[in-house]
Amino acid sequence: MSEGDPLSNMLAQMENARPYADIDGGVFERLKHPERTLKVTLPIRRDDGSITVYEGFRCQFDSARGPYKGGIRFHPTVTQREVEALAGWMTWKTALVDLPYGGAKGGVVIDPRDCSDREIEAVTRRYTEGIRRMIGPEIDVPAPDINTDSQTMAWMMDTYSMYAGYVIPDVVTGKPLSIGGTQGRVEATGRGVAITAESAFEYLGREFDGADVAVQGFGNVGSVGSRLLAERGANVVATSDVTGGVYNPNGLDVPALERHVERSEGVAGFDGGDPIDNDELLRMDVDALVPAALENVITVDVAEELQADLVLEAANGPTTVAADEILIERDVPVVPDILTNAGGVIVSYLEWVQNSQQYSWTLEEVNTDLRRRLNAAFEDTVEVYAERETPDLRTAAYAVALEKVGAAHEVRGLFP
Ligand code: GLU
Repeated sequence: MSEGDPLSNMLAQMENARPYADIDGGVFERLKHPERTLKVTLPIRRDDGSITVYEGFRCQFDSARGPYKGGIRFHPTVTQREVEALAGWMTWKTALVDLPYGGAKGGVVIDPRDCSDREIEAVTRRYTEGIRRMIGPEIDVPAPDINTDSQTMAWMMDTYSMYAGYVIPDVVTGKPLSIGGTQGRVEATGRGVAITAESAFEYLGREFDGADVAVQGFGNVGSVGSRLLAERGANVVATSDVTGGVYNPNGLDVPALERHVERSEGVAGFDGGDPIDNDELLRMDVDALVPAALENVITVDVAEELQADLVLEAANGPTTVAADEILIERDVPVVPDILTNAGGVIVSYLEWVQNSQQYSWTLEEVNTDLRRRLNAAFEDTVEVYAERETPDLRTAAYAVALEKVGAAHEVRGLFP
């Protein structure tokens, strides 16, 4: 059954929140359309001398509240509409956690597993050249996302700076420390997931210590999230990635699993538990399910059979709108992506601020600010949920975000 692509889901989430948000009708209509999307063609010379032509996108969704902000992903399933949905989610996320940014997203249609490091560097540099006229520290600031990391950001920063003729660190965030990255950025999204998990358990009056958690995805967010959830006392009983999944009812040894993944490039084959497939993981009887991979994994079928008591969306857009309706009916709370995974962009913002001041903060300063901002957004969300009796936490979070973006549009007015 087709449950809509990410863009139609994102637009439906907006519509669902509209009755609960104090927003001008004209402004709302305007927000249903991304400002612009650039499509770029990326011809790359492969290691064997042949040429492969890749395709990339950068969508700038809205900038009423500040420069566009959002990551770049390298994945074979990237589409223009997916990138536009993700740019929309960035717009709502930065508004919800009150960063002075709009929303953007980029993507290249590529399977990095088929490429050498040199080929990935070439794709990154060619893509940066393709979008360089639309990015910049005060215009649009990319960051890592799926299959991109601090090395990718270093190549982007270098390419952009070479064209300018001088170094411009703050054109991207998520950089290595040696070129203006910040303490705590690599762990930021996972740390945010753990902080939000604790808040959600407390809010629901449930015991976090010893709670069973299943995490789908073991990339940056899933692995760091799992480690920090376990450090805080949760029992991470299952996780998975594209290579396979692993289950241990006594809790996985997450650092050992991270070492295994480092060596063998995937979760499959880890001997600290039994193999489990993705469908089983999503339906496990756990206290919390943490989707930390791609969009559209919690579909109607999964929502009907899911046994978790709580869903924490570490990925962007993991739950379809049709699945949301079932989870509302079944009384399964969902802490939405734009709140749960906002830790990454919060620390990106702190990196950008440090760059613009040529100053650097301690890890403790970064993490204190991260916690403060996430806790404030959590409080705003549950307050709107209670006061306006929204059907779920997502609708409440959207109402908060829509009002902030709407207020910025109203006060700025319509050009010309
Ligand atoms: N890619 C991350 C996200 O989806 C971080 C974006 C950023 O730091 O700009 O939120």
